[in-house]
Amino acid sequence: MPSQKEQTKLQTFAHACKFCGQAILTDKEFTSAEEAIEDATMECKCFDAHRYQQRTTNIAKLTNAIKQIAEYCENHEIKLDEDIPQILLFNGVAIIDYKISKVSIDIGNKKVAISTNAKGNIIIKFTYADCLKLEV
Ligand SMILES: [Zn+2]
Repeated sequence: MPSQKEQTKLQTFAHACKFCGQAILTDKEFTSAEEAIEDATMECKCFDAHRYQQRTTNIAKLTNAIKQIAEYCENHEIKLDEDIPQILLFNGVAIIDYKISKVSIDIGNKKVAISTNAKGNIIIKFTYADCLKLEV
């Protein structure tokens, strides 16, 4: 039998989509209302939630790809200007938000191409000196 305090906690955080307000059944526990709303929104199947989920996934993929590129350069002693990750992130988010359709950035003999496919998923291609290709 949960204590009264625990019951209050469970009742406090509504697990509902932030766009359509649909409540979604869950047995997960949350530490804040924002966390519960975010989790429900990531599970909801409404149109706005679907776009939000895709944007969140694309940004995570972009951030991870930028990290991989930076790590690759570091491991291979390739000098990458410290502003480059920010430039890639800025351009990548503009693509995710459909402000621009694709971008290709040449950094010396390295090239980073960012675009989206027909499904709206972000594609990041990193080419170094014509030989190495990293596609994520
Ligand atoms: Zn929804």
